[in-house]
Amino acid sequence: MPHKHAVAVLAGIIVGVLAGVAIGWQGGPAVGAVAWMGTVFLNALQILVIPLVLAAVISGVASVGDIRHFGALGGVTVGYYLATTAIAVLIGLLMVNWIQPGATAGLEAAGELPEGIAERGGADARAFIESILPPNLVAAAADTKLLPLILFALAFGVAMLAVGEPGRPVAAFFQGFNEILMKLVIWLMYLAPLGILGLVAGRLGAAGGGDALVDQLTAVAWHVVTVVSGLAIHAVVLFAILWLVAGRGLSYLATMLRALFVALGTASSSATLPLTMEGVRENGVDPRASRTVLPLGATINMDGTALYEACAVLFIAQAYGLDLTLGQQAIVFVTATLAAIGAAGIPEAGLVTMVIVLNAVGLPLEGIGLLLAVDWLLDRFRTATNVWGDAVGAAVVHRFIGRWKPAGEAPAG
Ligand code: ASP
Repeated sequence: MPHKHAVAVLAGIIVGVLAGVAIGWQGGPAVGAVAWMGTVFLNALQILVIPLVLAAVISGVASVGDIRHFGALGGVTVGYYLATTAIAVLIGLLMVNWIQPGATAGLEAAGELPEGIAERGGADARAFIESILPPNLVAAAADTKLLPLILFALAFGVAMLAVGEPGRPVAAFFQGFNEILMKLVIWLMYLAPLGILGLVAGRLGAAGGGDALVDQLTAVAWHVVTVVSGLAIHAVVLFAILWLVAGRGLSYLATMLRALFVALGTASSSATLPLTMEGVRENGVDPRASRTVLPLGATINMDGTALYEACAVLFIAQAYGLDLTLGQQAIVFVTATLAAIGAAGIPEAGLVTMVIVLNAVGLPLEGIGLLLAVDWLLDRFRTATNVWGDAVGAAVVHRFIGRWKPAGEAPAG
């Protein structure tokens, strides 16, 4: 997308957010009049996600070219995911121990627990492994469980490389398929301002408008302050990694802003994936990095979610007057990482996988009720952090794989 169009779209999105807040804050019939635009935009994004994941991952693996490079790509990617998620949880634990938001909480549950929480009581690592190999790939994908689809596409791509010559036309097909989908993403971006306006106004309106929001926020104000400042610190740490490891800076961030705003609007890393991919592409990131790191990252690399889960669980412990020992906090550290990996890239998924963490340290699941009222809002901030983590990851992996290029051929961007 030419530069001035990208700026125009971004400006439109920012106006969309502001107008959405203004309309949603008032509440009333105006909300219904614009909310449908958000639904249509979200649906259009989601329509693109499944074909895009297939085409991006398969063509991404194809562009690795040599199966021997695959291990190194995987190693850097997984290393980045784990390191940054661990940093995020650590920041969350430090913030929540320092601010102690739960100590002053008004101990009133804010509503019904989300559906499925009770059944998730027994969620564990084995159930997670079983869930990534479902009997029906299409049904799982239709249910926005993208991880099985991504693993299938990875395996397909590797097999395609392994068969050599007969695989080439198939690789070319998916390459073209991916280009076409990215063109659709660019067209869809022109609707993003209206879509975001509708999403923001609709969600704020559903929460009861501005006055209700202020009430909800003040009840758990310190929790909100802890999480949002933790996320902000982590975003800065990621920026430092972008700068120091990947050698990129503010212009990279500026190009990603559209995706970050869409993450704020949709609260879904998966729905934002098409824009994340377009953003890093504009930044010149090597497709070998972006097409594998981003789809996988959108489902398993969730720094914001991990940070949030650590904060939320300790908040609940504090609210019940329980002091978690260092050993128990170490358990929170490990399980919050797993819970973030297990969370799907859809709205409020992190709230459901939090059960894993609460169970691990023996806290009552009802504690989640304390956080329900503001989860929809915090979800948006953690989703934007998740997307930012993926975008930085693509740049970091790009930096590493640039070295595989034959001498004289500089990496793009
Ligand atoms: N909504 C988040 C995402 O899509 C997941 C979560 O609930 O934390 O990234």
